Amino acid sequence: MRMSQYFLPTLKENPAEAQIVSHRLMLRAGLIRQTSAGIYAWLPLGLRVLRNIERIVREEQDRSGAQEVLMPTIQSADLWRESGRYDAYGPEMLRIKDRHDREMLFGPTNEEMITVLFRDGVKSYRDLPKNLYHIQWKFRDEVRPRFGVMRGREFLMKDNYSFDIDKAGAIHSYNKMFVAYLRTFARMGLKAIPMRADTGPIGGDLSHEFIILAETGESAVFCHKGLVDKDILGRTIDYGADLQPIVTEWTSLYAATDEMHDTEAFEKIPESERLAARGIEVGHIFYFGTKYSKPMNAVVAGPNGEQVTVEMGSYGIGVSRLVGAIIEASHDDGGIVWPESVAPFKVAIVNLKPDDGAVAGACGKLYEGLQGSGVSVLHDERDLRPGAKFADMDLIGIPWQVIVGPKGLGAGKVEVKNRRTGAREELALDDVVGELSRRLG
Ligand code: ATP
Ligand code: MG
Repeated sequence: MRMSQYFLPTLKENPAEAQIVSHRLMLRAGLIRQTSAGIYAWLPLGLRVLRNIERIVREEQDRSGAQEVLMPTIQSADLWRESGRYDAYGPEMLRIKDRHDREMLFGPTNEEMITVLFRDGVKSYRDLPKNLYHIQWKFRDEVRPRFGVMRGREFLMKDNYSFDIDKAGAIHSYNKMFVAYLRTFARMGLKAIPMRADTGPIGGDLSHEFIILAETGESAVFCHKGLVDKDILGRTIDYGADLQPIVTEWTSLYAATDEMHDTEAFEKIPESERLAARGIEVGHIFYFGTKYSKPMNAVVAGPNGEQVTVEMGSYGIGVSRLVGAIIEASHDDGGIVWPESVAPFKVAIVNLKPDDGAVAGACGKLYEGLQGSGVSVLHDERDLRPGAKFADMDLIGIPWQVIVGPKGLGAGKVEVKNRRTGAREELALDDVVGELSRRLG
């Protein structure tokens, strides 16, 4: 992409309405614009990040054996009357009437809808287990939408739903998702710690929230410090197909959100190993048994022909919230520092002298070469002074910057800067494509 043509409205000043760093940087770097309270338009650069996060989430869902569906955003009120949640859900639900005066709603979550799809499609225990996911916009009329995409009213969520014949199967599905979540967040460069959580209006009796530690987080959390450093996931290979040991290893150390916090248990941990902190909830998993399948009559024929009410769980990841959460976890004074896996472009070419034919030629060649190797590139060929270009590149956080000017080029060299470390090195022009493709491998 050529920057002179890109729709990238960056801001020099900090927007007054943004209270936390990720919100400020998302506005300044031209990722989003607010269109109403808690509702955002995604601009090209922001959308690329959102799509990258979505792709990682999808790959890990697929890897875990879940199957993708796509359910609508608009649901009928009657569906929610079947589970008894229509009135219980309260003012967070956006209720709508169509032209025939039928009561509809903009879905805040999809337990009811998936239960009906399952009920109509699966009749026998032989077809279990099933795990279905979708990535779809949700609407919750939050009392206080704030912090940009972190607490929006319209937001993108991955939600999935597991169906099993019995509790043991349901717990296995839960454990599978537990590990899939650890993997998903690790691939985004995040340390997400699973913590015992309250089940809230979803209901049920087993639940974990996946929390990223950050001072600006809205959740108060308490955990054993060991969980912050522990690379349990790095050893998943040791566990093979049986996921119980890895989940047990994680959950054997104390970690809880404030609703589930047990002061007495926490204080049994030696003081130097206790961590009371704040965090951002990026995922939440629930096992809730027959809470929906029972009232909604989701039954299958069991092995002896008997009718069995299926055991369910549901699992959510805040896809749009993650864009903000990643920035909270990874930025510096200059701006955003994207982990490579989610960066909108992996490489930026900074042309220091666009009106110099040789420099423009070299940049063009680099651009073609990198694109040809499958590396996403943003080419800054704007007619601006170098300082302004450097500041913009740091602000938008592209992991690798290739800086091309007449002086270095005279000796066949360009400068390569790593956004995260700030390290600069000289590379021969002809080596850049091969070297960067290898590092990004
Ligand atoms: P919270 O406690 O933050 O209000 P929740 O418990 O209501 O969230 P869940 O129903 O567990 O949320 O939804 C699954 C995931 O969706 C959450 O872990 C979070 O990452 C994301 N999410 C929930 N509400 C919002 C929101 N208003 N804006 C952005 N993301 C959200
Ligand atoms: Mg939650």
